[in-house]
Amino acid sequence: MRAMVLRRAGSRVLELTERAVPDVSRGEVRIGVSACGVCRTDLHVVDGELPDPKIPIVPGHEVIGRVEETVEGSAFHVGDRVGVPWLGSSCGQCRFCVSGRENLCEQARFTGYQIDGGYAESVIADERFVFRIPERYGDVEAAPLMCAGLIGYRSYRCAGDAARLGLYGFGAAAHIIAQVAVADGREVYAFTSPGDVKAQAFARSLGAVWAGASNEAPPAVLDAAIIFAPVGALVPEALARVDRGGMVVCAGIHMSDIPSFPYRLLWGERTVRSVANLTRRDGHEFLELAGRIPLHTHTRPYALEGANDALADLREGRIEGAAVLVP
Ligand SMILES: [Zn+2]
Ligand SMILES: [Zn+2]
Repeated sequence: MRAMVLRRAGSRVLELTERAVPDVSRGEVRIGVSACGVCRTDLHVVDGELPDPKIPIVPGHEVIGRVEETVEGSAFHVGDRVGVPWLGSSCGQCRFCVSGRENLCEQARFTGYQIDGGYAESVIADERFVFRIPERYGDVEAAPLMCAGLIGYRSYRCAGDAARLGLYGFGAAAHIIAQVAVADGREVYAFTSPGDVKAQAFARSLGAVWAGASNEAPPAVLDAAIIFAPVGALVPEALARVDRGGMVVCAGIHMSDIPSFPYRLLWGERTVRSVANLTRRDGHEFLELAGRIPLHTHTRPYALEGANDALADLREGRIEGAAVLVP
């Protein structure tokens, strides 16, 4: 099978490689990949911003495909359509796992980081961490739901009942969560890089009541904000825009340093928190919701061997919505 492989940590480049089709062990399924989303986290892996990836590694944790092979006792059948997310496995026994916080498991392993992921024609997954995908979505459309949607959804839930919700960085995650928030009757305020009028128009087209630059004041005080852009300077910026008691959620796995800021920005019981990974419960909840609400995912397809182009386009902010590899 063909796979795009990172051979050297931080080399910023993947190599097209011919590999043996991997074997399936007990508890696993082999999935023929039909689409794999390109997430900003992949960029952090490839660019060496996340420590100690398995090397060589096949990135990709927004995998949609069909089960190709199972072993006896599997809950899946050959041909089932499934998705593989970022959380590849957790220990099931630690204090985090037993308290419904497997996203924080210290033994957790992640797809496309410690386990070979979906930038390939086939992938092996622990079947306990695999999801069934709502029928209303095609394979390419469904791919961004697996991380941008799912971790976006966890961030959205962590933001509470905010009537006025700010989204900083209007990329793959924000474009899905904006639709969820609008469907829930929230007002969405979209913040983009200064001058990115295209992304601002895109946000308005998805129902944002306002869209502007990240250093601009919105026309109303926000109840909460989610920061999807990996830019630490947005933390004090967002704190200055949320009301007393408001929440700022940092949704990314990596962020540049947060500059110091005056205590008055935090005063008034404002909260800053991060969101790490996902639980299977988040996945089931979000996919159930995605089965009910038609979410339109804006995708740009690339061939498998075009993975480096897709990553470059994401790095340079040239993608509206989400890039998806189609092996
Ligand atoms: Zn655990
Ligand atoms: Zn991701």
